[in-house]
Amino acid sequence: MAAALTVPVVYGLTGLFRPAPADDADPDRDSTTGLPLAEALEEALDDRLAMSLTRGRATACFLVALDDLPELADRHGQAAVEQVLSRTSQRLRDAVREGDIVCRTDQDGFGVGLATVTHLDLEIAIQLAARLQATVEEPIAVGSGSIYVSCSIGFCLGARAPEATGRGLIHAASLALDEARRNAPSAIRAFSREMSRRVPARAVGQEDVMAALEGGQILPFFQPQVSTDTGRVTGFEALARWCHPERGVIPPDAFLEALRARGQMERLGEVILTRALEALAGWDRAGLTVPSVAVNFSSEELSDPKLVDKVRWQLDRFDLAPERLCIEVLETVIAASPDDSVVRSVNGLAKLGCRVDLDDFGTGHASISSLRRFAVHRLKIDRSFVTKVDRDPDQQRLVAAILSLAEQMGLDSLAEGVETRGEHAMLAQLGCGHIQGYCIARPMPVEQTGDWLRAHAGSLADAPAIGRKLG
Ligand code: C2E
Ligand code: CA
Ligand code: CA
Repeated sequence: MAAALTVPVVYGLTGLFRPAPADDADPDRDSTTGLPLAEALEEALDDRLAMSLTRGRATACFLVALDDLPELADRHGQAAVEQVLSRTSQRLRDAVREGDIVCRTDQDGFGVGLATVTHLDLEIAIQLAARLQATVEEPIAVGSGSIYVSCSIGFCLGARAPEATGRGLIHAASLALDEARRNAPSAIRAFSREMSRRVPARAVGQEDVMAALEGGQILPFFQPQVSTDTGRVTGFEALARWCHPERGVIPPDAFLEALRARGQMERLGEVILTRALEALAGWDRAGLTVPSVAVNFSSEELSDPKLVDKVRWQLDRFDLAPERLCIEVLETVIAASPDDSVVRSVNGLAKLGCRVDLDDFGTGHASISSLRRFAVHRLKIDRSFVTKVDRDPDQQRLVAAILSLAEQMGLDSLAEGVETRGEHAMLAQLGCGHIQGYCIARPMPVEQTGDWLRAHAGSLADAPAIGRKLG
């Protein structure tokens, strides 16, 4: 990636670009530059991310926005703006490599999707962004003079996107671009997770969330959980996502409060549970081994005296045994539950045969006696204890203490938010039963789970699991 290749390549086009005449305008292409539109970028990145999931390759998305285009139009006129856009698209195509994609994303912007490569890190990506910027910012000859433009660039590496979909990757790059634009002119920013945490600040309208829930835009993504002993998948956690037609994949932090405020947590629970059980039945039909699916239950749902009947009915409907469903209950809910209806729901579900995980364990200050009131099967160790557990002796002591508590209470254990192989190895060594986190896989849409499961099974056949390796 370091050296600029000179082959001009446009997605689906070869040779030099000529703007299409207006009267036979192709609806899939931008009329000014002839470039494909954002949908093409999304589709291509979907394919590339799927390849990077299964074949260890990397991709990235760059969004390039010309600074101050309206001012340019005021000073030089619309025809000059069109020339600038055409010239910029040509330069971007010249700067990228064969197989990379250049698209027009919006009024003043372009998107670049990289073909997959074996090695791509932040430094290489920043160099590439700087190169794209330098080429765009060369003066542009218009009439007898030159126009000087500047551009801001936001990008995201495929491996860093909160969601492994084309849409998710573009959305992450667009958050980085927003940040770059706040620092314009000529800023370059890489996506960081803090940026996606800022999304809630851009308050989502309660009405919009309600419509999204009823319209089927809110659905679960699935994140695998694996045994540290065998490396095998023992379940998937269903995590709610809002697949927004324009904003891409929106994480639950951005919309759960709006749903809660409208009293819709029970409805959300129904939707996620139905979709999760549907997925489980689908994996069974496809001959894929997924022992269980875990669903997060809010305190609102757990307070519903009819919850156990509703869950039983749903399990019957999909003809699934209750032990295939794992109920995730937050430790805070259990700690703060003088409310008998919550105790009755959790114990009723356990009696039905469902498994119960105590989520975010270690943060909720539940007393041992309050734990005893609930039929819990597994402690799910909060991510805050897992981070750097391989390098920080304090973290190790805390995790060891939680694991010993689990053992003494006869409970299984699962660590969440495991991001590195080092953390994975240390957790296995400390005796944690299961792990979940980015080092295994990010939450993914149900459509990707089949390929992921097959690739994971293949990789197990090739290499021993970390836990076994450590003995
Ligand atoms: P949670 O139940 O603790 O879910 C784990 C969160 O950690 C998820 O965030 C997941 O995407 C993220 N995560 C997984 N692996 C890693 C990792 O290796 N590193 C890091 N940094 N994060 C990781 P997500 O999906 O944004 O969910 C946030 C919270 O929203 C969940 O926390 C859960 O409390 C709530 N939530 C999500 N879906 C539902 C739902 O369907 N119903 C209810 N009631 N709550 C939900
Ligand atoms: Ca959870
Ligand atoms: Ca958790």
